[in-house]
Amino acid sequence: MIEFRDVHKYYGDYHALRGITATIRAGEFFSLLGPSGCGKTTLLRTIAGFEGISSGVVLIDGKDVAAVPANKRPTNMVFQSYAIFPHLTVEQNVGFGLRREGLSKEALAARVAEALEMVGLKGYGARAAHALSGGQRQRVALARALILKPKVLLLDEPLSALDKKMREQMQVELIRLQRQVGITFILVTHDQEEALVMSDRIAVMFEGEIAQLADPETLYRRPNSKKVADFIGTMNFLPASILSESDGQIEVEAKGFGRVTLAADQAPGAATGGEAMVGFRPETLTILFDGQQATDRETMATIEEVVYYGDMTYYDVKLDGMDSATRISMRNVFGRPVLDIGTRTRIAWSPGALVLFR
Ligand code: ATP
Repeated sequence: MIEFRDVHKYYGDYHALRGITATIRAGEFFSLLGPSGCGKTTLLRTIAGFEGISSGVVLIDGKDVAAVPANKRPTNMVFQSYAIFPHLTVEQNVGFGLRREGLSKEALAARVAEALEMVGLKGYGARAAHALSGGQRQRVALARALILKPKVLLLDEPLSALDKKMREQMQVELIRLQRQVGITFILVTHDQEEALVMSDRIAVMFEGEIAQLADPETLYRRPNSKKVADFIGTMNFLPASILSESDGQIEVEAKGFGRVTLAADQAPGAATGGEAMVGFRPETLTILFDGQQATDRETMATIEEVVYYGDMTYYDVKLDGMDSATRISMRNVFGRPVLDIGTRTRIAWSPGALVLFR
């Protein structure tokens, strides 16, 4: 649906997009995720046509859009600040983009009603826009974009002004809506959880470049750099030495885990020549109580910190054999006794949960 070929963008001397090459498929929910200033909004705006590019090619539906102005592109944008007209009613807002299409009153009313129903605002048409809640305004903004039947809906942090509860509700509704209308959604967000929850695929961006483009599970389980791993959730790191590498198998010695054999897909990143590390997510370690057996490997550890959350207890632990300066965090689910600081415990771990960065 959309293809970027080596896209660069300069603002004066500032190199905001540094060689973006990527393809966004028709009908997918795609997210651009990254910290503030990484260029995700700029990239979104190059699709919309609000921003020209300095070099490279942007294709929409196989067509180079360099010469196509924003209002002639099959895209529509929903902004963070809803940009609805407060002095108009909901239906006037939603129908705004169709006012010059020469539709009959009935046809326009039917299109508005259809769009309002899609976003869960059936029956709200006659309300004054200024009297709506934040979540309702965001729905009006969505309806106003959807009524134009774009092939691609561009969403620039559309939920960031909403409180946490409303945001979570709208996330679920946006997924449902995207499945229902089947058009391509491209979301800009700096919220990794939001991206994981909503997307078919995610491009993680840092400093004008795509660091990794993958589905949520791959990004979480097999991040291709420490930076991506750190940006998405929590990852523990232990220094490691690479002992040998052959036939898609990598022999590693990691402090705290000892010798392990990893498969090639457990080293998804390119070799950087830096210090090697193994990474693993906190929830891949489990405390073994009483006579519980590890399904894979086990090691001894000392509890160094305890934070009780009710449904979950977070621990910092020191694995035997690990450097004292390293901190390892893990989680233990509700229903288990909470261990005190200083407790010695057995911990289950699995070589399959490790990712090698080198
Ligand atoms: P945020 O989440 O803060 O919006 P972002 O990842 O969307 O961040 P962009 O808005 O794409 O980042 O901006 C990327 C970089 O380009 C930033 O350093 C920003 O200051 C710069 N930039 C963006 N627009 C302009 C402009 N019109 N003129 C000059 N510099 C700009």
